[in-house]
Parts: sequence; C-alpha cells; structure tokens
Amino acid sequence: MLPHAVLEIAAAHQPDWSAPEELAAVRNELRARPPLVDAHSCYALAGELEFVARGEAVVIQAGDCAELFSDSARHRVQAKASQLHHLCETAESAGVPTVRIGRFAGQFAKPRSCATEVLPDGTEIPVYRGDAVNGVSPTAAARRADPARMLTAYDLTAKGLDALFMRQLLLSEGGSGISSMLAPTYISHEALLLDFEHALLRQDQARGGTYASSAHMVWIGERTRQLDHAHLAFAEGITNPVGVKIGPNATPEELIAIVDRLATGHRRGRLSLIVRMGAEKIAGRLPALVAALGTAAGQVTWLCDPMHGNTRKTAAGQKTRVVTEIQAEVGHFCRILREHGVHPGGLHLEVSPDPVTECVGTAAELTGALELDRYESACDPRLNPVQAQQVVRHFTRLL
Ligand code: PEP
Ligand code: MN
Repeated sequence: MLPHAVLEIAAAHQPDWSAPEELAAVRNELRARPPLVDAHSCYALAGELEFVARGEAVVIQAGDCAELFSDSARHRVQAKASQLHHLCETAESAGVPTVRIGRFAGQFAKPRSCATEVLPDGTEIPVYRGDAVNGVSPTAAARRADPARMLTAYDLTAKGLDALFMRQLLLSEGGSGISSMLAPTYISHEALLLDFEHALLRQDQARGGTYASSAHMVWIGERTRQLDHAHLAFAEGITNPVGVKIGPNATPEELIAIVDRLATGHRRGRLSLIVRMGAEKIAGRLPALVAALGTAAGQVTWLCDPMHGNTRKTAAGQKTRVVTEIQAEVGHFCRILREHGVHPGGLHLEVSPDPVTECVGTAAELTGALELDRYESACDPRLNPVQAQQVVRHFTRLL
C-alpha cells in the first residue's frame, strides 16, 4: 500500500484536533517545507543496521519518553547526544561497535491509555498527548489539541538536527582523532501523529520510493501496531529503517505478518523488533515468537526495550521503574535470542542527561515513604546517567 493512503484507514491514538481548517493549513504548510532529514542519511542508517542484524554491531537507542519543547534548545539536544555518546563508548570500550540512535529531536507525541484524566478537584480534562499535540499543564486550556504545535515540533526538530551537526563539526575540528567521537547520531521517534508524518513524506530522488523525512528511523508503538490499521501501512510504505514495539500479548501470527510486510524485500536489519515484555513475562513469551519466525528471525534487528514492561508504582503512588528488573529483562532477552542463534542487537532506553530520580535501584526501595524528589519527566520515568550506564554495562557484559 502507498503510504499516501494512510489517512483514509482507521488509526488509533490520534488527537481530536477539532479545528479542521487550522489542521488543513498546518498540513499544507508542512508539505511545503523542506525535509527534516535527507533520504541519503536514512539509507546510511539502514546500512549500519545491516551490520547489527549480522551480529557485528549493536544499537543504543535512547532519550526521552516525551520530549518537551522547553527542553529542546540547542544545548539540551547536545547534552542528550553527549549522554548517548557516553553510553555507546561504554559498549565500544568492550570492543562492540555501536550505532547511535537518539530518542530525541522530535519525540513529541505520546499514545495514552486514557483519553482524559480527572484532577484532584474532580474536573475531567483531556490527557497530555505530547508537546506536538497539547501542553503538559493540567488545565483544560493547555490540553486543547492545537495543530499549530506540529509546526513548532518541526521547527525544534530542525534546530535539534542543526545542533547535532554543530556538535559533530566541533568534534571533528577539535581533531580528537578518536573515530568513535565522530560516529553519526541518528534521530528517531514514535511515528504516531499521522497528520504530521504524512505531511512530511518525501520522494527519495536517488533511489526511488517514498521516505519519512521527519527522522532517520521511526517506530510504531505497541498500541498502534494493529495489522489492519494505518500505522503499519505507513511503515510498510516508507523506505526508512522502521521499528515495531512487541509486547507480551503479541501472537506468532501477528509477528509473522509484521515481518512479512516490513522486512521482506528490504535490506537485512531494516525492521527492528523492539521487544518490551517485562522481566516477568519475557521468558514465557519471547521464545515462541522467535521460533515461529524461523530463519526470518535473522533478517531483523532485535532490540530490547526493558522500560515499558517494567513500570511500577512506589508506595507513595509515583510511577517508577527498578534498575534490577530492567537488567533482568535485558538478561532474559540476550539469553533467549542466543538460544535461537539470533544476535541481541541492542537496547531501547528512556534516559535523561540530568541526575533525575525517576527510576530506583532495587525493588526494596518501592516500599516505605520514599519520595522521588527530582521527577521531571512529562510521561514515563527515565534512567539517570548513572543508572543508564549500569544498564548498558550489564548488556555489554552479556554480549
Ligand atoms: C514509548 O516508547 O514511550 C511507548 C509508549 O512504548 P510502547 O509503545 O512500547 O508502549
Ligand atoms: Mn515511554
């Protein structure tokens, strides 16, 4: 199916923009703008992912859960890229080449389990759907879905890419001589907002076909990967590397269909299966899926997202994640894939470059009156730099 048709197919988790003229104007404006990334760099990433699928490199994909416009200035994107770089260095110091993929410079839209939330005073307001849709402040006015926010998302992504380019240039002029410093930082986000993604489809003039010019890689979330819905059709129609989140309830039939539609006929590694089952479920669910794929399991890039299946609450009610549980899922992931002769291709993490206290070290910390006091995430709890390094070191040791 051509990706252009996706706006006519059912799609989950789309905002109710309730401003059709404004929406149409924004879409026209986005269609007229230059591509954010060029087709050539998407193709270059596909080439790097081919090495990953062959077992010769690993991916570290890391960044925000929900990126805030207010946290997307040049120096902040550079801080996120530096953190990603340090995580990759940890893997590289163990002799494993890495592919750097930021979950930033455009990660501005979120699927949410409820359309509304109820405030302490009983008022019901629309839920926060990411800065590309509405504002995080808990007021009805801020939560109105505003199409103009998609233009801001575009502008900030363009600035973020510029900041990454500047960082690269400064490092190369600094003549560090360390080639790993100069490895490119690719950008990625969940391709959730079809009005945005569709308007940024562009032709790949050199190689033919249509690509998503919003990021080098995009992924489809666990909540929008229905086989008969628009998001998979979108991923199918573009030439970029794409990811699909795979939760504990994915069936072998679904997985076979996803691989058939998104990997067959493409370069090895073009599809990343981003497994996010949780430390408790992965051992019971993943083996049957890998086995069902047979030799096709070696055609894809396997990434472990040990965040989204391991969300917990503290006794005080704050959403958190436990580093030991995150590491446990990474451990099962590596073991299961190995047992099937498949390369554990990397990690997909939610991290902050700041010393936040959103995740905890051990499950023992969940009880008692613990207050996570530096909690800045607009959505899910992120690993701070120390915790993120612990997880990457754990993964690297298992390789
Ligand atoms: C996410 O990556 O923030 C997310 C919502 O993940 P998933 O689709 O795996 O639930
Ligand atoms: Mn998240």
